Amino acid sequence: MSDTNIAASTASPAQNDLNLKDWRLSVDREGIAWAVFDREGESANSLGRRPLEELMAIVAHVEDAARAKTIRGLVLTSGKEKGFIVGADIREFELLATEQQVIDGIRPINAMLDRIERLPVPVVAAWHGVCVGGGLELILACHYRIATRDDATRVGFPEVKLGIFPGFNGTARSIRQAGPVAAMQAMLTGSMIRASAARAMGLIDELVASPGALHWAARKAVLQSRKSKTAPASKALLGRWPARSFLAGKMRDETKKKAREDHYPAPFRLIDLFEAYGGDLDAMKANETRAFAPLMVSDTSKNLRRVFRLSELLKAQAPKNLGWQPTRVHVIGAGTMGADIAGVCVAAGMEVTLQDISKEQLEKGIKAQSKLFSRKFRTKATRDAAKARLIADSEGNGIARADVVIEAIVERLDIKQKLFADLEGKMKPGAVMATNTSSLKLEDISRPLKDPGRLIGLHFFSPVPQMPLVEVVRGATTREDEVKKGAAFVTAIDKFPLITKDVPGFLVNKVLTPYMFAAMARLEKGEDKEKIDEAARAFGMPMGPIELADNVGLDVCAHVAKILGAGAEGSRLERLVASGRLGKKTGEGFYVWKDGKPEKSNAEFSKSEIDALGRDLMQPMIDEAQKSLDEGVVENADLVDAGLIFGTGFAPFRGGPLHYAKMHGRSTSPSPAQRAAAE
Ligand code: NAD
Repeated sequence: MSDTNIAASTASPAQNDLNLKDWRLSVDREGIAWAVFDREGESANSLGRRPLEELMAIVAHVEDAARAKTIRGLVLTSGKEKGFIVGADIREFELLATEQQVIDGIRPINAMLDRIERLPVPVVAAWHGVCVGGGLELILACHYRIATRDDATRVGFPEVKLGIFPGFNGTARSIRQAGPVAAMQAMLTGSMIRASAARAMGLIDELVASPGALHWAARKAVLQSRKSKTAPASKALLGRWPARSFLAGKMRDETKKKAREDHYPAPFRLIDLFEAYGGDLDAMKANETRAFAPLMVSDTSKNLRRVFRLSELLKAQAPKNLGWQPTRVHVIGAGTMGADIAGVCVAAGMEVTLQDISKEQLEKGIKAQSKLFSRKFRTKATRDAAKARLIADSEGNGIARADVVIEAIVERLDIKQKLFADLEGKMKPGAVMATNTSSLKLEDISRPLKDPGRLIGLHFFSPVPQMPLVEVVRGATTREDEVKKGAAFVTAIDKFPLITKDVPGFLVNKVLTPYMFAAMARLEKGEDKEKIDEAARAFGMPMGPIELADNVGLDVCAHVAKILGAGAEGSRLERLVASGRLGKKTGEGFYVWKDGKPEKSNAEFSKSEIDALGRDLMQPMIDEAQKSLDEGVVENADLVDAGLIFGTGFAPFRGGPLHYAKMHGRSTSPSPAQRAAAE
């Protein structure tokens, strides 16, 4: 390439010629083309139709210019402050109704990626932050990948979470780079991989210290024509027969432990693809779309996409421009709930003072958070900083400074009333005042307050670090702006807020309880507990209702039954509670528990019976979900489904109880079998 040509190509008019909206293209004095992805009107870059078409135009332009020797390299990078590419544009998935449409839609994209790979000049991807899904597939077609070493930089293939697998030939390209074991593991789990791990795997070639260093590193990579190294032969060999067949078998076994094939087929189809073609990456590329297309149009994937949209809907419950950012939290009560609530707030970067009348409980609650911090923070420095942000505060000195005060003490009205009356005089104006009560009315708790409109409910679920949902409860007298602040706080601690009316059980427990008690009623009538639990799991619940009751604690279940008017006098539940058999925590309830697991006989049941029982078990949940919607417990049907999916783990691939009922023509009134069981 002559210097004259390079000089002539400075300040390229390409941007204007190509009429780009989602990308910016310029060519610098050295002849390096910089394609900056900055999707118009969006806070994040996703690969929708228009940005992909524009990228095709950019590739064609660079092909011509490379041939004319006016461009000596191409760098793909991001125009967004945070992250590079979040994946394909999920919103556009719904436009593809048939397998043929999927195949036709993908073909030109994969052809473009091949053209990028074949460009005669170096193509470098350089980014800071997240680059996942279709984004990772795009950069895998580049010749060299540079990212920041930052904790925010992640790559990964989250496709399985949407019921599909990588469809832009990322299956083959990731195996080429990382070898079959690491690549398949990444695709099968959908995990987000840190920059240093991705570099060790071979998905990233070079790490730089900061976003500011990316430009020069990319320039150097182009000028030196750096090429990524593919997986070493020792790794690649595992893709050959018969090692591949052995690996595929192992992967199937591992995957079966986490997901049922009839519920979540995508990982299994990916393993089939690997087993058939993993030794010949061109064949794998050629066959990927055929295996991908049926998954893309399946109900499972549609429903999992719906779950993704529901999570967005929940986040939207929190107003964006509130002008209020909570940074300090005071939690009162360091028991099961309070200590974990404090830990989660600290993990989200907040400073937390934790108060309890028991010094011993306070110490225990704080100590217990080390586990969460070790999971969340990788370096000793960040773990130490987290520990320093969690402050024992027996005197309640943090109350006056806190932006949010959360009460999680004993469930007694008089004690809570007294506590809040005392808090009211100490809290700063504008700070959120919240209770984690699960059964008391906000209206009653706030009665002694001068400003009862200030109190909201923040109803967390146990175990707090694992459960993504928090119900933000609007009491009869609660002011709307306090509810909004509560929702904003919940998103600030990386959870999903669900605004609910103050009815017994709020949304989640209100809907879950009739289901659990109807299951217990079946048990009472002689149905096998293992059969009930297996039927619920076969339907897609994470755990059966009887095992769940043992997990929650049978005393808690009996208490909830009383509040919600469920349960039966003299029932097995009552007898177990009276005899001190409270479930997992005492080693026996409905099940006998050993090493944290219920003892089961693992009896086999007929599939048709299990399927029918599973559907019947769900009917009370569907009915109560509909009732809750009719009563306006939450604003709409999607929010009911979102609450049940994120609050109880209701089979995500079924899209929520109301969606399931609609799709399967299930009535929202009791089935005859259900009515019989309840009698
Ligand atoms: P817990 O008994 O484990 O903890 C309560 C803590 O509060 C104890 O450490 C106790 O010493 C402390 N405490 C009591 N009175 C106090 C006071 N006046 N000032 C300071 N500390 C005081 O109870 P928990 O299970 O964590 O429940 C706490 C609250 O959360 C309750 O209102 C409960 O209904 C609600 N809740 C519980 C769950 C659950 O699954 N456990 C779920 C959602 C909501």
